[in-house]
Amino acid sequence: MIYVIGNGIAGLSAAISLFNSGYKVTVITKNITGGSTYIAKGGLAAAVGENDSPEIHAKDTIIVGDGLCDEKAVSYVTKEAPLAVEILEKWGFRFASDLRLEGGHSRRRVLHKTDETGRDIYDFLMYKAKQLGIQLVEDRVKSLKVENNEIKGFITERRGEISADKIILATGGYGYLYKYSSNQSTNIGDGMAIAFRAGAFLADMEFVQFHPTVTALDDETFLLTETLRGEGAKIINDKGERFTFKYHEKGELAPRDVLSRAIYSEYLKGNKVFMDLSNIENFEEKFPVVNNYLKRHNLSVIDKIPIFPGAHFVDGGIRVNTRGETNIEGLYAIGEVSDTGLHGANRLASNSLAEGLVFGINISNYIDKWEGLYFNDGEIYSLQLTNGNLIDINEIRTINWENIGIVRNEEKLNKAISIYTQADTFSTNENSNAALVSLLTAKAAEIRKESRGNHYREDYPSKDNKWKKRIYFKIQ
Ligand SMILES: Cc1cc2nc3c(=O)[nH]c(=O)nc-3n(C[C@H](O)[C@H](O)[C@H](O)COP(=O)(O)OP(=O)(O)OC[C@H]3O[C@@H](n4cnc5c(N)ncnc54)[C@H](O)[C@@H]3O)c2cc1C
Repeated sequence: MIYVIGNGIAGLSAAISLFNSGYKVTVITKNITGGSTYIAKGGLAAAVGENDSPEIHAKDTIIVGDGLCDEKAVSYVTKEAPLAVEILEKWGFRFASDLRLEGGHSRRRVLHKTDETGRDIYDFLMYKAKQLGIQLVEDRVKSLKVENNEIKGFITERRGEISADKIILATGGYGYLYKYSSNQSTNIGDGMAIAFRAGAFLADMEFVQFHPTVTALDDETFLLTETLRGEGAKIINDKGERFTFKYHEKGELAPRDVLSRAIYSEYLKGNKVFMDLSNIENFEEKFPVVNNYLKRHNLSVIDKIPIFPGAHFVDGGIRVNTRGETNIEGLYAIGEVSDTGLHGANRLASNSLAEGLVFGINISNYIDKWEGLYFNDGEIYSLQLTNGNLIDINEIRTINWENIGIVRNEEKLNKAISIYTQADTFSTNENSNAALVSLLTAKAAEIRKESRGNHYREDYPSKDNKWKKRIYFKIQ
């Protein structure tokens, strides 16, 4: 039996692909409607357009990745993405016929179905998995059992110990660990913490991508997609000023990290920030999902929508090779929980659904031929677990937002490190997992004395070639 942990795009596509290749599979998930795939919006990037190619897609990915992409992973994902899309369509999923353009892409290559494409893919994969009779169990995985660097099994909250020699972690990222976030509460870094305690390498933990335009009307978090700004939405403060032009000549169409810092700075000045949608022509027709969201909260296109930048995606995670293999035999990691090196220091929009699908679908080609992770592209640091205080997740979210957030410096990072080194990072509960990945994020951000991709330090605001390398962590 192969166990897949997580039912997002990565876990479900792996389970279906393995089942179709004749393997017995069980999917275990903490929450069936948890994860980011369930709420993902824009679409999936693949070079399927007439004037496009995997090489052009690779070039765009590498530019946005700001010097830290693993070029082997980039070439692999960009070549495999169109093939993975073909397989998804063979399974029965249909994308709309037009391709969308998103920031950082030099070609129209974002495949979509509606403006809730992640949810469409999730619904389809869940339907397919049920149709095939793949077992799906709701339970939380707490830890892994490893002997002599080989996976032997895992422990869940309700079922206790289960023996296994092949486990695929597909548990997503930890964007929820920031007070302002676009993620669901399931995404708190469980898989990364569990794998780290078992001896896996984690890398690139300092690179957390913030999305500039998140809202939360009546506490319902909702991502206001980039396309709204492309179609004329304006960002204003409570004085009515389009302040983003003070930060970048492209104003509202500036890169995500610049815009996130601009909105964050406005909040620090005590101003409020809103999105004004009133200039968008045919709004209801073009953006039915956004329109429904506004209606649910008794607002319409003429109202100003309060916005904030929120933690959105984690570039780093469990380091794997292009087969999804970690350094522990039998342990695989795919999707946002993994670090394939595809995203480098910053993810190109819509590349994460593509990565999850490629690694998920292709894992059945490798599952019986273990090679194992090899790397020589960075510095390795070790970290000892501590048995200190349990910190509440909401407190962790505030600490991270204030100290390891959009604008970082030595003092803030050391504050976070000192809090988390006295915390419980040893136990297997969610709070300890959250404290552990937060500590690794703070440490990596402190070590990296430069600004690159989505890691911004006001005390080191420029890029430094000396830091053109990955930062790895391993348990001491
Ligand atoms: C609002 C939003 C919009 C986005 N839009 C896009 C987009 O348009 N295009 C794009 O490419 N990317 C987008 N992203 C990012 C993308 O959605 C994610 O990176 C991707 O869906 C991750 O898929 P995944 O399968 O790795 O994990 P997820 O979909 O996050 O699933 C993780 C699963 O693991 C389970 N799990 C977690 N911990 C445990 C545990 N301990 N035990 C058992 N199960 C566990 C969870 O219940 C969940 O089912 C968006 C993200 C957000 C939040």
